[in-house]
Amino acid sequence: MDTSEGTVIGVFTCEQCDLSSPYTFYGQKPPNTRAIVLLEECYGMRDPFNPEREKFLVLGSKCCLCKKTVCVGTECSIFYTKRFCLPCVREHLEQFPEQIQMELAKKKTAKKM
Ligand SMILES: [Zn+2]
Ligand SMILES: [Zn+2]
Repeated sequence: MDTSEGTVIGVFTCEQCDLSSPYTFYGQKPPNTRAIVLLEECYGMRDPFNPEREKFLVLGSKCCLCKKTVCVGTECSIFYTKRFCLPCVREHLEQFPEQIQMELAKKKTAKKM
């Protein structure tokens, strides 16, 4: 593995599902990418399964309300102009558009917590 551009700077851990993974960058601009600027500050790593230098994976980000670190999994967070963890979405559900409210309603029945 090429260590020069995939240097692990820490371990990302989702506070919702406990998913953890090493990450190689944090911020809005992944290294070795020219045109890509992400919509949020996030944890990411170079895609180990893709030989292209500009490919990377977004692992997760911080909830803009409670500042918890959450992964991008649909059971943990949604991105709606900003990153929100699901507990915060539920708390402020009426402030989200109907489409998101419906998605959340589906999740509730699909998975028991
Ligand atoms: Zn998660
Ligand atoms: Zn939150």
